[in-house]
Amino acid sequence: MGEAKFTPVSMGGSQVGMNKDVKYVPALPEGLSSAGWSIHGGKFSPKDTYNPRLGYTPTWSLNNINPQHPYREYTLDWWTDTAIFRYDSLLVSAFYGLSIWEFRDFYKIPRKNFLFFADSGGFQADTQGVEVNPVAVLKWMEYNADVGMTLDLPAPVVQKLSESSLEYKIWEDAADRSYRDYAAMHRARQSDKLQLLKVMHGDSIGHIEMWYKKMADLEFDGIAVSPHPTNEKGIAYHLAEAALHDEKIVHCFLGTGMNTLPIHMYAKKYFKRLTFDSASFSLQGAKFRSFVYPFNPGKALNFGGSYNSTLKRLPCSCPVCSITTPEIMNIDIASERDAKRRSLPGGLLALHNLHAWLVYIDFLDALADSRDDYMAYLKSECPPETTRAIEFIDLAMEKGIEVAQRLIYEEDSTRNVNGMFV
Ligand SMILES: [Zn+2]
Repeated sequence: MGEAKFTPVSMGGSQVGMNKDVKYVPALPEGLSSAGWSIHGGKFSPKDTYNPRLGYTPTWSLNNINPQHPYREYTLDWWTDTAIFRYDSLLVSAFYGLSIWEFRDFYKIPRKNFLFFADSGGFQADTQGVEVNPVAVLKWMEYNADVGMTLDLPAPVVQKLSESSLEYKIWEDAADRSYRDYAAMHRARQSDKLQLLKVMHGDSIGHIEMWYKKMADLEFDGIAVSPHPTNEKGIAYHLAEAALHDEKIVHCFLGTGMNTLPIHMYAKKYFKRLTFDSASFSLQGAKFRSFVYPFNPGKALNFGGSYNSTLKRLPCSCPVCSITTPEIMNIDIASERDAKRRSLPGGLLALHNLHAWLVYIDFLDALADSRDDYMAYLKSECPPETTRAIEFIDLAMEKGIEVAQRLIYEEDSTRNVNGMFV
């Protein structure tokens, strides 16, 4: 068996024609457990070869971080020189990352030509009932990250936000506590290398504007918006408000669905840098064994469970699928089942999925330069809500957000985005 000849394919920024100012940041869903994945084009010992039909030594290597485990584990990695394809950004929550001070060095995440985003962990802290120290988070970010998010206390999603309501008070309290943490991080800043983004919440226009007012005197390097629920309208509201507040560097948490991604890719023109993240590629691949269609990552084949594929080759020509087979994607041996998210097929599927998303994003990125072509595509492939969201943002920029809301969404500013598109 000969050594695999292996050339990593670069998928970073402009190398695939993608506008560098708009970027999909792959998020690792469970911090350390998933950051523990790594599949790369390094050495592979022959005894671990799964499928002799490949005819060569495959190009992934075993992860030895947890040698005590009885099953094989693989770590996913798209940033090294030997990766199957190389991509240039990553998001990890500090909530998970904090346990390793030298996180970036430990996982050999490059310090050059790479954007390492660190979420604060406010969401995880809130949902898991754990206190997080904002200054400790900041120091960890300053050592490890290029872009960090302020530690926010997410407020609950509520139905009605009139100023006299109890819900409004809960939201105000969340904003006030977030303000204190943002201010603590602001005061403790020492490094000018870390870009720190102010996290903005809100389910309605009035509500988002309340959050902006509360945080107005804290100047950061940009903002991160957190629409919830992350539907077309929520994203449109947040991006319109960000553009109207003259924010130039904006990160949006989530919004990589087939019908919401086009909103980002259109709205990029209002910002200097617009980024968004999601862990869907890895959740789908590693957890659910889904192989998303290379031309439509919203739909998928499933290699999990009892699926018994008769495919002769993978229906995709991406760098990952070019060097693997349906049999490998369909491995269901005991050792792989135990490894769950760190399994070999799970990791390969995740990498294929990431590639498929990048191809879709690249398509939208190019198409967005022609508004007519873009809108024609949306009308044929997406629900009306996507088109409406884009029209809302454009109209808000032209005539103000109140007018846009009245003309596009026809409702008052206190209602939130839930249940809009029933
Ligand atoms: Zn593929």
